[in-house]
Amino acid sequence: MIGWNDVALLEPKYRREQIYRAWFDAGVKGIGDISTLPKDLREKFYALLWMPIKLEKLLDSKLDDTKRALLRLSDGEMVETVLMGRQSKKISPSAEKRYTICVSSQVGCPMKCVFCATGRAGFKRNLSMEEIVAQFRFWQEYLRENRKGEIGNVVFMGQGEPLLNYEAVKNAMNILIKFANLGHTKITLSTAGVVAGMEKMIDDPDFPPIRFALSLHSAIPDDRKKLIPSQPEDFFEFLIGWSKKYHIKFASRTHFVGLEYMFIGGINDSDRHLKALIKLASKLGRVRLNLIPYNSIDNDKSVKSADFEIIKSWQQTLMKSGFTTTVRLSQGSDIAAACGQLKNSYDNR
Ligand code: SAH
Repeated sequence: MIGWNDVALLEPKYRREQIYRAWFDAGVKGIGDISTLPKDLREKFYALLWMPIKLEKLLDSKLDDTKRALLRLSDGEMVETVLMGRQSKKISPSAEKRYTICVSSQVGCPMKCVFCATGRAGFKRNLSMEEIVAQFRFWQEYLRENRKGEIGNVVFMGQGEPLLNYEAVKNAMNILIKFANLGHTKITLSTAGVVAGMEKMIDDPDFPPIRFALSLHSAIPDDRKKLIPSQPEDFFEFLIGWSKKYHIKFASRTHFVGLEYMFIGGINDSDRHLKALIKLASKLGRVRLNLIPYNSIDNDKSVKSADFEIIKSWQQTLMKSGFTTTVRLSQGSDIAAACGQLKNSYDNR
């Protein structure tokens, strides 16, 4: 199937950039509206896809300001993206609300992490750069229509493993930074730890200085391997060496290695796990820890999050040990929009 970018690539760069700019322009509803493009080009592109995704269903959380959009792609596949609104304490209540959107990078996911619904559903295909950017454009349009506020942050924590779709994800991030006026620190890429992709981003001059987060979930190699079976041999040695290179490449006050730690009761929440985490984190340079309660998937009640008191007490110990540590409150769990729950379901879990 020929995408419009296949045609667009035949055009000079400045022409493509006119289109990228128009993607985010509130006054442009289609390629035909780009007045800076000559008429013959508008006609040539017009037949091709301006918006490669269509809304299939929008789910609205009753618990909090979270929405999940189920999107139909042009080949019939489906993917989803999440809008999360939380008023930042830093800005006044009258200030415009900033939203975080969670975007998908693949249809399904091949990583097979045991705790994640997306992996259980299997892998279909990579998303194109246009399909990734279109998720941003979809929510931008939605917020404009509903006069609700703006997209403040983009997190690559939807379906898929972004580092397995390296080029499309990188291009999408660069386009958001350049044409949607999104600051590079407003984008977070989360990975289960794809070694090849992590190495590539360090060597790649075009890789933007976005925020990086690793889904760690255990600092004990054998335990982590049980949760994330794709983990290669000697991953922790690799991680320690890699983070040194990361800090050199992305040296700035705003950069750190993000570590996500999801709590599954009785699995990764013991004192032994906490000690291992402190030991590992202290070898990774500037880190920031994000503690996440486990969200149940597939209505499986046998696996539960650790108690919130345990998570809070870890936070205190980690802070005392000198690590900036936040606790992520899950949003949208009633509409299967929380971390790990994305599997294209039409209603709730
Ligand atoms: N493939 C990437 C991005 C998608 S997952 C990655 O693994 O990082 C986004 C985050 O949600 C990851 O930290 C992931 O480990 C976490 N997650 C997955 N399943 C979860 C669940 N059931 N409860 C809470 N967090 C979960």
